Amino acid sequence: MRQSSAFIPTLKESPADAEVASHRLLVRAGFLRRVASGIYELLPLGARVVRNIERIVREEMNAAGAQEVILPIMQPRELWEESGRWSKYGPEMMRLKDRAERDFGLGPTAEEVITDLVRSNVSSYRDLPLNLYQIGDKFRDEIRPRFGLLRGREFIMKDGYSFDRDEEGMRRSYQAMYDAYGRVFTRSGCTWRAVEADTGLIGGDVSHEFMVTAEVGEDDIAYCEGCDYAANVTLAAYRRDERPRGEGKAAEKVHTPDKGTIEEVSSFLGLEPKLFVKCIMFLVEDRAVAVLVPGDREANEIKLERVLGTGEFRLFGDDDWKRFPSYLQGFVGPAGLRAAEIIADEALEGAGGMVCGANEKDYHTVNVDEGRDFQVDRFADITSAREGDMCPRCGGTLRVEAGIEVGQVFQLGLKYSEAMHCNYDDENGMSRPMVMGTYGIGVTRLMSAVIEQNHDERGMIWPLSVAPAMLHILPLNYEREERSAAAHELYESCRRRGWEVLLDDREESAGIKFADADLIGIPYRAVIGKGYDEDGTVELQVRATGEKRKMEMQPLLDDLQQAVDELVNERPAVT
Ligand SMILES: [Zn+2]
Repeated sequence: MRQSSAFIPTLKESPADAEVASHRLLVRAGFLRRVASGIYELLPLGARVVRNIERIVREEMNAAGAQEVILPIMQPRELWEESGRWSKYGPEMMRLKDRAERDFGLGPTAEEVITDLVRSNVSSYRDLPLNLYQIGDKFRDEIRPRFGLLRGREFIMKDGYSFDRDEEGMRRSYQAMYDAYGRVFTRSGCTWRAVEADTGLIGGDVSHEFMVTAEVGEDDIAYCEGCDYAANVTLAAYRRDERPRGEGKAAEKVHTPDKGTIEEVSSFLGLEPKLFVKCIMFLVEDRAVAVLVPGDREANEIKLERVLGTGEFRLFGDDDWKRFPSYLQGFVGPAGLRAAEIIADEALEGAGGMVCGANEKDYHTVNVDEGRDFQVDRFADITSAREGDMCPRCGGTLRVEAGIEVGQVFQLGLKYSEAMHCNYDDENGMSRPMVMGTYGIGVTRLMSAVIEQNHDERGMIWPLSVAPAMLHILPLNYEREERSAAAHELYESCRRRGWEVLLDDREESAGIKFADADLIGIPYRAVIGKGYDEDGTVELQVRATGEKRKMEMQPLLDDLQQAVDELVNERPAVT
């Protein structure tokens, strides 16, 4: 690629809507442009990175026994009705009609289409296991697209699906994908962590997310310092501290005039927030349910959904408070409360000497003991773990850090195969549903995540494995003939070896050339300048470390060859 004719429209200024480094730098360096909210164009350098990531994904998938297919983006409503997701997916699914007014969805994932394909074409246990994947465009009509490729509405994703005879087979397929995913992220140059995760709209029982740690990450991950426990904070368990015990005093009502929040009452009474029982009212399928959590914690609605066994619930709104006037907003407490059900966080089991609302305006009750002063129908894990909490496995300290989810794997079980009758005949001729797994990698999101982890104030720092080119040749004062001839010679030598290189053949100042090269972030740089005039040496610069070495052409090529060979060695053996 010659820079003078390549389409690399760099910008001096960051785009106004770019909140994170990857978005800012990809646009400034001429990799990416925005068409509409959450919809982007990948320019030549950006497209190269995507193709490199896809190549790594393909190598790992194929080596793990998965087979590539290409499925339609436009998927008929009927299939989505069968799984129940046509209505469940809601406005996040992009929908359209054809000329005959038939409904279609633009696929956010392809469980329905692939399950239909397999049920129509696979019928014997001999054909299983089967693992199919594709890499292509996906759509999700995000409420708030942002962060460039990190949360777009149209994006490139690898999605894969496994079909097995039984649970054990599914777990094997799952493990193979889990291992392959780890290799994909490592080879792409990321530091990552696999964490236990919620299954959300995809469904299933067991799931792991692959998180690339980054400050801008939208997910929080809890992980243990002492063992390998790690989970998304929405799901992470934690060991409860010693409960407060109180001193066995009788419960007592106290006047707390004009004190609405726990903080206000807490400082008024001189009692720590964690001694409070926060009583939160939820409308659950038309029943009023009281949820109790310690005063210094919030109810975690994802955990709550699991405990309630339904997604149909919400915090009390104005209408609900009016409809149930016996609950006094701001002063609800569990003592004497009548609710369809009272669910409490595990931390409150056996807790004593607590403070809660007195169900009377401007009054709270102190010295409240669980069991004596109020009864709980169910104790459950319904609050989020946070920094410093105890690990549920080993009692070590949990840390919380932000991460970008770049992949997720699910043990689906029978969710789609039962709903869509995807069956096979076993050895005895018995018809059984196939046991499925589903696996996704956000390819364009991974590209951004790589940059979030690999950049500095001057620009991007591409890992060699996914870089748009391996070498950036920078002849300074290009008009000098010996220098431009040397640059061309090096360029051709690289091309003959099949390497992608970028030659800065523009007649720009050294300052502009260096600034652009830093911004674009190609891993190696060969500067042809004064040294070349003096003794025929080229300066090899490493973008990641800033290391500089004067070298002659041949050793330079040998060094680069060695770096390429190391990359090749990371490839999986084809079986
Ligand atoms: Zn631990």
